[in-house]
Amino acid sequence: MTIFSPSLSHIESLVKPGIPVCAYIHDLDALASHAIELVSHLPPRSEFFYAIKANSDPAVLSALAPIVAGFEVASAGEIRKVRQAVGPNARIIMGGPARTETDFLAAIDHGVERVHIESLHLLHMADIVAKRTGKRLPVLLRINMAGPVPGATITMGGQPTQFGIDEAHVDEALKLVKECDYLRFDGFHLHTISNNLDAEAHSVFCEAALRRAQDWAARNGLVPKVVNLGGGWGVDYSDLNRRFDVRLFCERLAGSIQAEGPLLQFECGRIVVAYCAVYATEIIDLKTTHGETFALLRGGSHHFRLPSAWQHRHPHKILARTNWPWPWQRPRIGAQLVTVTGELCTPKDVLLRKEQVQGLAVGDIICFLAAGAYGWDISHHDFLSNAHPERIFLNEHASNATERLSA
Ligand SMILES: *Cc1c(COP(=O)(O)O)cnc(C)c1O
Repeated sequence: MTIFSPSLSHIESLVKPGIPVCAYIHDLDALASHAIELVSHLPPRSEFFYAIKANSDPAVLSALAPIVAGFEVASAGEIRKVRQAVGPNARIIMGGPARTETDFLAAIDHGVERVHIESLHLLHMADIVAKRTGKRLPVLLRINMAGPVPGATITMGGQPTQFGIDEAHVDEALKLVKECDYLRFDGFHLHTISNNLDAEAHSVFCEAALRRAQDWAARNGLVPKVVNLGGGWGVDYSDLNRRFDVRLFCERLAGSIQAEGPLLQFECGRIVVAYCAVYATEIIDLKTTHGETFALLRGGSHHFRLPSAWQHRHPHKILARTNWPWPWQRPRIGAQLVTVTGELCTPKDVLLRKEQVQGLAVGDIICFLAAGAYGWDISHHDFLSNAHPERIFLNEHASNATERLSA
């Protein structure tokens, strides 16, 4: 599995000439091979969905459509994105904590196959909306399990959060769902952590979650058809070569899958798309104020908010350039610490803090690697109305995932 990491000349051949470089570049072939490899390890009786909030670009959705079971969405807008990019037959499952009548209606109208319900109030709401349409809506109950849960970067369960139904209320919720004539109880949804780097720990957690789900159903006289174990397969941004061991995770989990048991579903975002894209941006100024040196980029956190959101050191490479078109001396620094910031009028716009560099000059490019997940999609693009980055998709039409899948 390779990490998409284009060379300077490759980047220069792709971007618009004559203006400072600022581009997201995706390799859709790399995306497709990576996704094919991911799903190749899946245990029997399991399905792999792509959680589109990680990167909902139409080109990404189209490249993944032949490979994944379907798409996990969390809003009516995301349903429309899937329908527009990959058509009426794509399978869609829908989650999300704060749901309205309109959301449930959109789910039913657009043929979403199952909705994940996160509270008792929303069970009532989904039932009423389904009743109005005359259609029975299949649902999973999202449960916020009692802890402890394994360590991860983001935690949605095992502690107080706005997500899911408290495990303490699971019997009450199951009693209610049995009384909802227009809902069909299909099982449980247990997305609990994001960016777990430890495949072994994740498999232990998922096995325990699966057992608990079966217990809840059994003691209420129900049989779960589906247990959705969420996403959360991690990406190690501190060492991109250290990978979440998908094979190990799937092998461990395969041991607890019974022929008669529920179908398992996964809905991963980050691990699917992170590695296939870079955010490459040019240094447009260098300065030292009060003893600290700053490199200012064409772009910033309004294009790529992940490093500031997570306060982490994002993997990157510096691409030195030689061309200098101006008649004055090129601003340049030697080996030292530098803080890399964007073009926004706020000191929060920091992409790298006190980074040791060997040298840097105006016109060089910083290429942030593994920028495909929660990069552009979580950023506040129009704050200050600077130009958007170019968005480049390599192998968009050459992507032959379908052929490779049948090979
Ligand atoms: C964000 C999210 C996912 C995907 O999580 P990753 O950590 O990107 O794999 C899956 N399910 C739900 C409900 C989510 O909110």
